[in-house]
Amino acid sequence: MTDGKIHTAPRTCRSMQKAIDALSGKQILVVGLAGTGLAVCRFLSRCGALVTGTDATAAASIPGAQALDAIGVELKTGGHQGIDTKAFSMAVVSPGVPSDIPLLKELRANGAEVISDIELAYRYIGSPVIAVAGTNGKTTTTTLLGKVLEDAGVKVFVGGNIGTPAVECVEAGDDIDVCLLEISSFHLENTRSFNPHIGILLNITEDHLDRYEGFGHYAATKFRLFENQTAGDYAVVNINDPVIAQRLSAEGLGRGKVVLFTVAGALAEGLFLRGGDVVYSLSGVEETYPVSEFGLKGLHNIENIMAVIASARISGVGRDSIMATLREFKGLHHRMELVRTLNGVAYIDDSKGTNIGSLVMALRGLAGRAVLIAGGRDKGGDYAVLADLVREKVKCLILLGEARFKMKDALGALTETVLVESLEEAVALSSRKAEAGDTVLLCPACSSFDMFKSYKERGERFRAFVEALC
Ligand code: ADP
Repeated sequence: MTDGKIHTAPRTCRSMQKAIDALSGKQILVVGLAGTGLAVCRFLSRCGALVTGTDATAAASIPGAQALDAIGVELKTGGHQGIDTKAFSMAVVSPGVPSDIPLLKELRANGAEVISDIELAYRYIGSPVIAVAGTNGKTTTTTLLGKVLEDAGVKVFVGGNIGTPAVECVEAGDDIDVCLLEISSFHLENTRSFNPHIGILLNITEDHLDRYEGFGHYAATKFRLFENQTAGDYAVVNINDPVIAQRLSAEGLGRGKVVLFTVAGALAEGLFLRGGDVVYSLSGVEETYPVSEFGLKGLHNIENIMAVIASARISGVGRDSIMATLREFKGLHHRMELVRTLNGVAYIDDSKGTNIGSLVMALRGLAGRAVLIAGGRDKGGDYAVLADLVREKVKCLILLGEARFKMKDALGALTETVLVESLEEAVALSSRKAEAGDTVLLCPACSSFDMFKSYKERGERFRAFVEALC
């Protein structure tokens, strides 16, 4: 040592050592090289695997491709040509890649194990896993539960669909107490042994029907969350969701203990509303959580909060600590976020409302009448389910994006409906149509990719146009 200090080799944590032992020397293909795929490549390469990464996009358009090259990952980009599918014993698929592309079918036919990054990470994560699934509310619930646990002194890794890829939990070391993962149905398509100690299922409504054979297929994928649970595990589920209720009564949800929550009616055991409180009643313990003190507003958020309370209590966090965080947490951007009140009109950004179920919840939660800005890229759902709510609550429907014609066909006869070409035009028109006491609501019920990079960009543009109104 030249600097006079004592250097010790960095200690490999137990979870990482387990991964190295299992993966070193294996030929593994990583399919999809966006954020998750890049992290998986780095992780596998650290484990000593022989990694090939492939993506339909050309390398020049993949940020991070060069860095992969530098750590010895072989790249096959701009399509999947020239891949010897017999050479790989395992393929790790990113959530953005449909499970039925020819490459994956061929890999499976040649005996490769095809798994999601969540399954890969799960095999080596050393702490109990809590997984949050559902069509809507995952990010809000995961973020809030992460804060509740953290505020109570629990060392929690938060990741999965929410940002930090799950494999980074393996690398994070041995002092993680809980690994909290937001899980999409795309992840669950390719799991095998994945078994969260606590699995939360918030709701199942139509979404991503452009990627599934039908609603039944989409719903069945969500229920895979509970597939491997055993007696010591927990399934925390919204019994007010008809699809979940039907499945529970028909087949059950696996072998874990089922903890129910609902915002409609009381339960003998579980979480429900009584007066102005959320009641937690489980294993002979009864506690109350006053709704008026929650920082998050809206009935849908009470469902999310019920899931958070249940999971935090199961994890050993006390009522007062949970309540302190519930008071503080005010929500995330682009989810029913009040941008501004102008001339008595509230302008709300719900750009993350990218499916019909989230628009149903947004309209249900509104006290008065709305000028609704909706539309974007259609995901294959049936807009007709919105008919009653549109008739009752929407005084003017402003439609934009690719889905505007389909939405007009389904809903245009129910209220004044105007088609526009841009979000700017939509906001300008909404300010002319709305009167004091109304809400202007941006809740597209569609994805943003026809006109924007992401729901965030769409929400930020909405905010800018609203702030420019005078
Ligand atoms: P996800 O991560 O599942 O997309 P988010 O928390 O980002 O969920 O919220 C997405 C959209 O769904 C937003 O429009 C939000 O207002 C709405 N939402 C949040 N929680 C629920 C819920 N429990 N039920 C229905 N809609 C919800």
